[in-house]
Amino acid sequence: MDSPSRIDSGDRRDDEADEGQRGFFGLIGSRIGKQRGDTAANLHTHEALLLLQNYEESGQGWFWSTDAKGRLTYITDSVARLMGRTAGALLGTVFTDLFLPVDSHGERQRTLPFLLTKQSKFDKLPLRSAFEGDDRWWAISGRPQFDGGGKFTGYRGSGADVTAQRRSAEDASRLALYDSLTGLANRFAISKKLDTTLAAFAQQQRSCAIMLLDLDRFKQVNDTLGHPAGDALLKQVAERLLKIVGDKEMVSRLGGDEFQIILPDIEDRGKLGDMAADIIASLSQPYSVEGSRCIIGASVGVAIAPFDGLSSDDLVRNADLALYAAKGNGRGRFAFYSSDLHTAAEDRRALEDDLRDALVRGEMALVYQPVVHSKSNMVSGVEALIRWAHPERGVISPSVFIPIAEEAGLIWALGEWVLRTACEDAANWPGDMRVAVNVSPIQFANADLPKVVAKALGATGLAPGRLELEITESVFLGDTAETARMFKALKALGVRLALDDFGTGYSSLAYLQSAPFDKIKIDQSFVRDATIPGSRNGAIIAAIVALAEALEMETTAEGIESLDQLELIRKLNVSHVQGYVYSRAVPQAELLDHAEGTWTIKPAGPARQRNDRFSLFRKVGAIHDNHRYAVVIRNLSATGAFIEGLLDVPVGTRFVIDFGEGQLVTAIVRRSMRHQQGVEFEQTMVSDGNGGLCTRHRVSPYLIAAATQSTAALALPSFTTTSDWKAA
Ligand code: C2E
Ligand code: MG
Ligand code: MG
Repeated sequence: MDSPSRIDSGDRRDDEADEGQRGFFGLIGSRIGKQRGDTAANLHTHEALLLLQNYEESGQGWFWSTDAKGRLTYITDSVARLMGRTAGALLGTVFTDLFLPVDSHGERQRTLPFLLTKQSKFDKLPLRSAFEGDDRWWAISGRPQFDGGGKFTGYRGSGADVTAQRRSAEDASRLALYDSLTGLANRFAISKKLDTTLAAFAQQQRSCAIMLLDLDRFKQVNDTLGHPAGDALLKQVAERLLKIVGDKEMVSRLGGDEFQIILPDIEDRGKLGDMAADIIASLSQPYSVEGSRCIIGASVGVAIAPFDGLSSDDLVRNADLALYAAKGNGRGRFAFYSSDLHTAAEDRRALEDDLRDALVRGEMALVYQPVVHSKSNMVSGVEALIRWAHPERGVISPSVFIPIAEEAGLIWALGEWVLRTACEDAANWPGDMRVAVNVSPIQFANADLPKVVAKALGATGLAPGRLELEITESVFLGDTAETARMFKALKALGVRLALDDFGTGYSSLAYLQSAPFDKIKIDQSFVRDATIPGSRNGAIIAAIVALAEALEMETTAEGIESLDQLELIRKLNVSHVQGYVYSRAVPQAELLDHAEGTWTIKPAGPARQRNDRFSLFRKVGAIHDNHRYAVVIRNLSATGAFIEGLLDVPVGTRFVIDFGEGQLVTAIVRRSMRHQQGVEFEQTMVSDGNGGLCTRHRVSPYLIAAATQSTAALALPSFTTTSDWKAA
């Protein structure tokens, strides 16, 4: 057995210890540290070590410790053996790897990594062993350790076997079919229902969709307004869901803030997408709980049997993957399952790993996009936008990696770097041009933010009035008193505040009155819709501008690309514009040549905003006369695309385009250039929830199975492909 004398000493701050943990580590640690060399004390220490050993051997509890990186530096040997290892073999293992990342309901459990990165203490956290053949539950406690200088050195803690208690609690809850809080079916009931539905439907070749739903920011409400408020909120969520879904039996609360809906006989992804969007919109409306107003959001993952799985396990797992993707895409979204999500999930994990070292490896850089006065074309300031030059993947967009950084606890360090670098750069510009910096809601929720901002200003000598912090509406979702305090503290520094992405979230004009903003930035999507005939967004923008003027705030329209949009924006009296029509973001070097007051940019761009085309290029199959050609598809839109790879196809030819995974669309050639055809789809495609497109329906695996039974004779190809052409 590993000797308990491995426990190192001295660095424990006694004021950090509480009763449960003061136990052996506290006792021995301080004794060894303070009284080394003293014989009586040595005896005492020896006795304490023996007691520790007895305690560990009794199986009542065990101990662990880690270094600052979360790697095991000690673990009770008898426990290591229960895990099928030895203490020696486990040393150096990342502590969180000892436990499954799910709880007893199969819910994702990110609590432990979260607590560890936050360096929080925790008490009796129930965790399940990750080792095969060991299905014990452990109650894990731990406390962060700091050295004399206050530097975090790792964790020390204890564990106890709570398997028996867990089992009996689980059995008891299984007996009940309903969630006592919301009255919805519980996890046990819904999974039974799904099993029986899917089994029956497979026989009858019917389809069945499920949606998994997770509330965004529910935890914040729970933490700030308290559990009774959280409970009241969940009840209202359940009521809203029932109103949309109708059938009480088909909606369940799985636990926490996760819900599942079964939708029999729907496979139309257009309908499902609309329904998911309705659910998200409904759940994102403000709630009134116990006299407070609060707003949360929701993300939805959708999987459809038989296409995405036949068994309930597969279907739920795939819906969960889709849900994860929806959250990764920025929350408040829905996503359909597709097989590429497996790679996407792995990809995301790999990116997260790389992101941990990206800052120190110097892969991050800031670029600056001019903000232009809409009437005079004069640049009034710039917005700092972060770029990550990944060594293998090239430049990665912040909309991809910022959410990862937020989830992985890396945003604080990144945000601090951005503030510091932007201030440093701005201090070197000729003149007094303003710099805007994006602040994540996670930074905003940290009481240290004003200190970090003050430090960046102090270190670089930048005048506070030249720094503008861009904040999104989601900061209003937390504790109102905290939020008000933060606004006050930031304003006290003399910096400016801008409300970013207005029109994408809750768009409550009440926020504008309640917070000391200097500027409102109207989101690109909102402006884009305004140019569509019949849209009311123009009228809404006019109202925002009027209110902003009354409150002496500036307005900026974001993402203006075309001249017609610019014209509209000027007509609506929006004071500033940021968009490609003036300039993309430029590197620091270019700013050294320009000073505020003399820098004007002439707008340039397309006359009109083109209809949303996804300039995707992708390999697909084009089927004609039983022959399948490999073609490349470009400029996919809901109603058509270009295909390349076939030569001289006559106008009017009909193809079936195979996008994979049972997605077939009939397409007619409308234009034919030598090696490129413009095709129109007979069935329009629908949004996949993430800016992409998918077919409304898919060919059922039942049909495919039936078709392959009657092997059709393959006709000879009737078109020359460009590869034949090149070969000839
Ligand atoms: P944002 O703050 O709304 O920034 C504006 C985004 O719109 C930028 O995307 C910008 O390049 C893009 N954009 C500007 N004009 C046009 C246009 O005419 N057409 C189109 N299509 N796009 C335009 P970018 O740089 O990819 O940043 C995306 C988002 O990532 C930002 O949205 C912001 O929320 C976040 N972000 C960027 N840098 C940081 C940062 O340093 N810290 C934090 N926390 N978030 C950041
Ligand atoms: Mg911004
Ligand atoms: Mg924005």
